[in-house]
Amino acid sequence: MLGRLLRRRRAREAAALAPTPDELAAVVAAWPCLQRLDARQRERLRELSGHILAGFEFHGAGGLEPDRADCLPVAVHAALPVLNRGLDWYRDFRTFILYADEFEVELEETDEDGLVHRGRDLRAGEAWELGPVVLSLADVAESGQGLGFHVVVHELAHQIDRLSGDIDGAPPLPRGLAHADWVRTLTGAWDRLNADLEAGREPFLDPYAAESPAEFFAVACEAFFDVPAGLRAEEPELYRVLSHLFDQDPAVH
Ligand SMILES: [Zn+2]
Repeated sequence: MLGRLLRRRRAREAAALAPTPDELAAVVAAWPCLQRLDARQRERLRELSGHILAGFEFHGAGGLEPDRADCLPVAVHAALPVLNRGLDWYRDFRTFILYADEFEVELEETDEDGLVHRGRDLRAGEAWELGPVVLSLADVAESGQGLGFHVVVHELAHQIDRLSGDIDGAPPLPRGLAHADWVRTLTGAWDRLNADLEAGREPFLDPYAAESPAEFFAVACEAFFDVPAGLRAEEPELYRVLSHLFDQDPAVH
């Protein structure tokens, strides 16, 4: 009974905070990556955005006090990767931290020899360990413009990746997508990217993808949602497994 009441209250809050049709239209108009969604998908995006605005915390940093105009596009973009998978994929974090512009992020990382490397500024690194997604609104504005860049998708891809325990480019896979298929496909695309870089050819994916398998996955997700037709043409197998993972086929629109 209590669970049902709580769910109903959450649903009411989400409905109250969801973008109005006009607000959603304005966001879609400003971000081309959203324009390939049909009417049914846009309605789903609107609903999910309401749940994100109601169920997640949005904190400002670096002097920013985010208002609805700041948070709403972040929520809409965050809804995109989970459009057909639902918010359970975001169960391990509850907070977005928003900066107005680029911020210095130093991560604590353990290398292959077990050595821990710490940067000067641990603020964002500590936040990462607790799960928040840290975003620069200036970069959010530049995301999803058809250039293969999408900071919200990138950071959320790391969150989805982490559901399997490690951020290593291997997220939990849905039914029908075999781990061996995933590894073979991403390894093949990873090898081609590195061959391009070594040969001095400009790769289709942002060269940052060569940093690690985790970054490769996150950058591939950016391309999947921002330049899907190009990704499908350049890396059809990579497109196929991402399409299966997200249960979306953005290149057809
Ligand atoms: Zn990354």
